[in-house]
Amino acid sequence: MIIIIKFCFFAMAILCVAPANAQTQGVVFGYGGKNGPNRWGHLNPHYTKCSVGKLQSPIDIQRRQTFYNRSLESLHRDYHTTNATLVNHVCNVAMFFGEGAGDVVIDNKNYSLMQMHWHTPSEHHLHGVQYAAELHMVHQAKDGSYAVVASLFKIGSEEPFLSQMKDKLVKLKEERRKGNQTAQVEVGKIDTRHIERKTRKYFRYVGSLTTPPCSENVSWTILGKVRSMSKEQVELLRSPLDTSYKNNSRPCQPLNGRRVEMFHELATEKQETSSKKKKPN
Ligand SMILES: [Zn+2]
Repeated sequence: MIIIIKFCFFAMAILCVAPANAQTQGVVFGYGGKNGPNRWGHLNPHYTKCSVGKLQSPIDIQRRQTFYNRSLESLHRDYHTTNATLVNHVCNVAMFFGEGAGDVVIDNKNYSLMQMHWHTPSEHHLHGVQYAAELHMVHQAKDGSYAVVASLFKIGSEEPFLSQMKDKLVKLKEERRKGNQTAQVEVGKIDTRHIERKTRKYFRYVGSLTTPPCSENVSWTILGKVRSMSKEQVELLRSPLDTSYKNNSRPCQPLNGRRVEMFHELATEKQETSSKKKKPN
């Protein structure tokens, strides 16, 4: 328990400011009005990257700015069954994983899965389209750098993982009603295998955390396949949050000349096949 609490405070400090923490600094960031995204950089000296940073997230992934990179490899994720805790993280609903939740390997570097959380509506746009929700799986390397794997969701059939979590999410909402703003619900062992879906296509770019302090050099991987969740599930993810955080997506940020690279399994296969054909036996 102590480990979990310690970890939550650490994660809150990094990814999302809890009110208790924020009040001591006299700052609460939000998604509208005086504390809205346009003002984040001025709320706290530690948040200046939010306004002056040139590698900010999210972005709109547009076709003409996307480059197919044949040296990218299929996304290698190796997650394990681990203890998890569902948390009302004030600015979003998050799930924290215990140690040993597994890794993602990006450019031969290992990043360990620490937590995941949801934004409604989506933060990244794909070819100009904003979706109903976005899942961020946050990984951290030994050197402290971050890699986030994001999935976009449109309204449609139920998302199986959230279906499993339904009772826990309802409990989290009830805790909030009782006045417990930073409620936690123990989930127990989570089999993360079905979160770790095989992906045939993804986009990769260098960006930032999408909440203050908006730290940069975060490796982003946006999965190319837009998945579905039901309208009720989107509502369930929003239900434990205060009104001002129910819409918790930062607007798209300028690309500033960055390259968005694309991995596509079928394109890789085609290229390999055609290069094989060209080779004389
Ligand atoms: Zn996020």
